[in-house]
Amino acid sequence: MTSKNPETLALHAGWRRDSATNAVAVPIYQTTSFQFDSTEHASNLFGLRELGNIYTRIMNPTQDAFEQRIAALEGGVAALALASGQAASAFTIQNIARAGDNIVSSTDLYGGTWNLFANTLKDQGIEVRFVDPTDPEAFRRATDDRTRAYYAETLPNPKLIPFPIAEVAAIGRPLGIPLIMDNTAAPLLVRPFDHGAAIVMYSATKYIGGHGTSIGGVVIDGGNFDWEAHPARQPMLNQPDPSYHGAVWSQAVKPLGPIAYILKMRVTLLRDLGAAIAPFNSFLFLQGIETLALRMRAHSDNALAVAKYLASRKDVARVIHPSQHSGAAAERTARYLTKGMGGLCGFELAGGLDAGRKFIDSLKMFYHVANIGDARSLAIHPASTTHSQLTAAEQAATGVTPGYVRLSVGIEHIDDILADLGQALDAATA
Ligand code: PLP
Repeated sequence: MTSKNPETLALHAGWRRDSATNAVAVPIYQTTSFQFDSTEHASNLFGLRELGNIYTRIMNPTQDAFEQRIAALEGGVAALALASGQAASAFTIQNIARAGDNIVSSTDLYGGTWNLFANTLKDQGIEVRFVDPTDPEAFRRATDDRTRAYYAETLPNPKLIPFPIAEVAAIGRPLGIPLIMDNTAAPLLVRPFDHGAAIVMYSATKYIGGHGTSIGGVVIDGGNFDWEAHPARQPMLNQPDPSYHGAVWSQAVKPLGPIAYILKMRVTLLRDLGAAIAPFNSFLFLQGIETLALRMRAHSDNALAVAKYLASRKDVARVIHPSQHSGAAAERTARYLTKGMGGLCGFELAGGLDAGRKFIDSLKMFYHVANIGDARSLAIHPASTTHSQLTAAEQAATGVTPGYVRLSVGIEHIDDILADLGQALDAATA
């Protein structure tokens, strides 16, 4: 596929037709195992002298088409689809950091990622050093000899301030430290590899699917990072791996292309921890991707219109949307969100907690769910749900105030979206 246009890649990259039946749609290869042609074929596959299907925990043709398509859209060289976004986040770190190592991460993270980093990885001996993303130099200051990666979200909510990808990637590269970006909120709107990131991950559960039917994740290798340049910095890719006959991944994978990071993840972490994606879910994500470009445009247009509408209401104390930023946050928005500002929008009701609850209970079309990125419009009141276990001070630190409402604006007609918001605001502030 020679096109660089996402609308075309979304329909054609990584697949033409089924080699056995000529089927145009990617079949759901619902099989656990694949017959070897011969003992030589089997041993070549296991020895990585040849890439091919062995067992669906490690790879599967439906999954392969999904991986190739998303890698092409992202401008990367290869991808690994996984059972969830959580598995994808965990694997991006565990692939290059082990007990005694650390990573430096932005504080502005999805709550599940925060838990993974602050508790589970910590219990595994991997320290996560959290720093303020408004100051790129904070990443350098938190770095030491055992720092293996930088990590951040492109467009984290609730603040919705774009992360300084190029600035932080530029700090890491001369030190041999890759920047890993969670691009869940901004597929096609931002391509982190274009700004110097080395690895991109997604919760495919959100916009990639768009239909709200399937949990999944995916990690994409940019193929643009020199893992060998600082061998002491990246020992897990440059020292013999006892779990694979002493393979040195940066060397062993060279004949197959610049895919050492992602291939190692597949044949070690996925092999051992088993967070495999079901073929059916890979199929459903392929269906979602076909309309991703259209949907991201519609989400962005609608959320921008919602932000303008909310800003015009007297009962709304504050609107949180990239279009509403000023100062450095506005400069980052202008630099990174050139193709659209995404579908997320937050706002604060002047009436606080009670008004927030009443607003949610009055919505008729918006769904009240703890999800984002669905084609349908979604809303949640974090202070009484996702963040209710936190103290008021902790809530404030994460950007959640008592009257804060988070919207994931869908692709319905804008008139219907504004009508539902308007009647719920009227009811909440009556
Ligand atoms: N990253 C972000 C930004 C998310 O919003 C989420 C889920 O809400 C995840 C990661 C985790 O993904 P999943 O729910 O697919 O495990």
